[in-house]
Amino acid sequence: MTKSKGMSSAVVAVGDELLIGKTLDGNGSWLSKKLTSLGAPVMGRWVTGDDPVAIKQSVIAALEGSDLVIVTGGLGPTTDDLTRPAVADLFDLKLIVNQSLVDKLRSRFSALGYEKLPGRNLVQAEVPEGAIIIPNCEGTAPGLIIEDGQKSVVLMPGVPHEMKSMFDSSVTDYINERFQLRLNPILQRTFNTSGIPESLLAEKIGEDITHFPSDVSVAFLPRLQGVSVRITTPLSGGQGLSSLDFCENIIKKALAPYCYSVGKKNIVDSLADCLLIDKKSFAVGESCTGGLISKRITDVPGSSSYYKGGIIAYDVATKSGVLGIEKSVIEEKGVVSEEIAALMAEKTKEIMKADFGIGVTGIAGPDGGTEDNPIGTVYYAVAGPSQTMCFRKNFQGNREAIRERATQAALFSLFQILTDRQV
Ligand code: ATP
Ligand code: MG
Repeated sequence: MTKSKGMSSAVVAVGDELLIGKTLDGNGSWLSKKLTSLGAPVMGRWVTGDDPVAIKQSVIAALEGSDLVIVTGGLGPTTDDLTRPAVADLFDLKLIVNQSLVDKLRSRFSALGYEKLPGRNLVQAEVPEGAIIIPNCEGTAPGLIIEDGQKSVVLMPGVPHEMKSMFDSSVTDYINERFQLRLNPILQRTFNTSGIPESLLAEKIGEDITHFPSDVSVAFLPRLQGVSVRITTPLSGGQGLSSLDFCENIIKKALAPYCYSVGKKNIVDSLADCLLIDKKSFAVGESCTGGLISKRITDVPGSSSYYKGGIIAYDVATKSGVLGIEKSVIEEKGVVSEEIAALMAEKTKEIMKADFGIGVTGIAGPDGGTEDNPIGTVYYAVAGPSQTMCFRKNFQGNREAIRERATQAALFSLFQILTDRQV
């Protein structure tokens, strides 16, 4: 069987709340990921209000150049839910009440304890002539598929969990069947790094990339938690998996000191793996991160196996009273200093009877910066069984960004020590 020309898709998200910025178009980005991995790359996304003319214009624009358009939102029973009539009108299709949908709605409402089906819900049983009905196991609005020649328009509810379950349980199969030979699934691998800026990272693998097979593309994805490098290749038509394996070996070698995971694992997951293998525990004494490090660690279920706990020693009095750091040392060295970060790590380790202790102190802003320690200066330390290592960084960004970056850096430094990487 020969593969014909690839296909592309588009997404239209409907809702005034999306346009005014109250709700993020999470459905659109979720669908983009799903469609891309199915092999139906997304050529465009539209966000439109609850207005039939605007809905039609967006669907027309989305259909131009794509074979599959997914529309989410506006299938509900209220007067602002206008997707169904707008799209039916666009294709010049009559809306016909489907009796089996009416029966399903009736039994759903009666199961919920309502005597009668609310009149407004009847519109959800209206189906554009000839449309395929997709069951909605989690709500009242069924999905609908309208086929127009070689193209398909799929209407799905806006409620995220209803849309996602409908896509996974029915729409994926439909796309695979209808577009099978034209789908171009891709393979991807993501390398997550910390402690190295995007430009340096690009330099480190710049020369290597020139030797990558031509069907492998490379993307650099900077985030507050660090930069990820993603490689992508088509599943078929080239070397596929072996191309990715070849590139992975090169990237892993070049980025070894900075790479903490391949795939979806974040720094806390990777750290958890190391601590569980080594049967080691740790504790955190935090100042400027205000509990964020502790939150990140305890986001992972089962973290009590290796995490003893944290002390948020935010105030100077807590640093001395709870952690037991001499007031005179704080006065002499300054509360934001290498020595205090080290003492916070050591004292927390001792108090919590942990194998390792992390200490963090810094200036997250927007006030409090000095000439020596401008806003963004963070000292963090890791106290281990035999020595304490201290680090000073100047993080960029606002208060939130500085605290996020400090959290990532502190956790990454423990990961580096546990895995014997260059610190
Ligand atoms: P309903 O039957 O609830 O009326 P619907 O298909 O008409 O469903 P909407 O009314 O458009 O959907 O949206 C229902 C809920 O889902 C709203 O809370 C809305 O904020 C959320 N929602 C809608 N579209 C999106 C989207 N693109 N991304 C994230 N959330 C969305
Ligand atoms: Mg609605």
